[in-house]
Amino acid sequence: MPLIALASLGGTISMAPDGADGGAVPRLGAADLLGGLGDLPMDVLAETLAGIGSASMDFATLLRCRDWGLRQDADGLVVVQGTDTLEETAYFLDLTWPSEIPVVVTGAMRNAGLFSPDGPANLRNALTVAADPRSRGRGALVTLNDDVHAARWVRKAHSSRLDAFSSAPAGPLGMVVEHAVHWFHPSPPRPPALTGVDFGGLVPVVEAGLDDSGAVLSSVAAQPGVRGVVVAATGVGHVSSGTADVIARLVPSIPVVVASRTGAGPTLRSTYGFQGSESSLIAMGATMAGWLDARKARILLHVLLASGADRDRIEREFRRRGDLD
Ligand code: ASP
Repeated sequence: MPLIALASLGGTISMAPDGADGGAVPRLGAADLLGGLGDLPMDVLAETLAGIGSASMDFATLLRCRDWGLRQDADGLVVVQGTDTLEETAYFLDLTWPSEIPVVVTGAMRNAGLFSPDGPANLRNALTVAADPRSRGRGALVTLNDDVHAARWVRKAHSSRLDAFSSAPAGPLGMVVEHAVHWFHPSPPRPPALTGVDFGGLVPVVEAGLDDSGAVLSSVAAQPGVRGVVVAATGVGHVSSGTADVIARLVPSIPVVVASRTGAGPTLRSTYGFQGSESSLIAMGATMAGWLDARKARILLHVLLASGADRDRIEREFRRRGDLD
């Protein structure tokens, strides 16, 4: 039987109503979650590594989780956490996981105190995906609501529905049916894992918008410890002329990555030419995020900075991982 390592970090899947005011809080550990699944066609080594809401997830916890997973010498790793930052966790693990064995991240939209909680089915599916030999070499995967997503594409696209997770426009990689994975697509070859060590400092995301003088970006970038900035730009990668002036001033000292705030579709490179357009920002030395949204661009930029990447390497990695090349 395959051996699967299961790390629980908290989130709704581990929550039940609290006696005091009835609000759901993390109460269930990895063993409790596993206990509800009955007999399984695999051995599972379960460990509770944290019990937090995922808005409090941080790099230190994820590095601890990744290193615990690598030490278990299992056939697959399942990570359970809150859905709110699950897309960032999955992408972080995808970037930094140096092994062929699959990592499958899951959670739940409905806690154990609500009607039809989805946690047990999601966990059972995640174990199935982790134990499937065809999951090897695919990096980090996400399974929720029977879909299997690539970490690279998945995002939480609805705040409360059971089908909250979407990989649009790429679509899910597969689906779990009757405890078997039906794969629809192969995964593209994975670039080598990144080896970030120094995760100190800040990589903020600043969203561009109406009546935007650039003052917010300027003041955020001036905060102590800022190592790079992601701008969630309008449309295909556009900012106001005031913000463009700020970006021109920042680029010589810190990397500035420009993503689209639209939630779907890539940044462009050479369609518009006005001050603040994508081509003007590229000419200033900004890096375009391509198909990566601002959230994922932030994770990639922070991991690259933690790996000591210089500006050329940052540009190359964004072109490769943002599907621009
Ligand atoms: N609502 C969240 C969840 O789905 C809470 C969290 O992210 O921890 O798990």
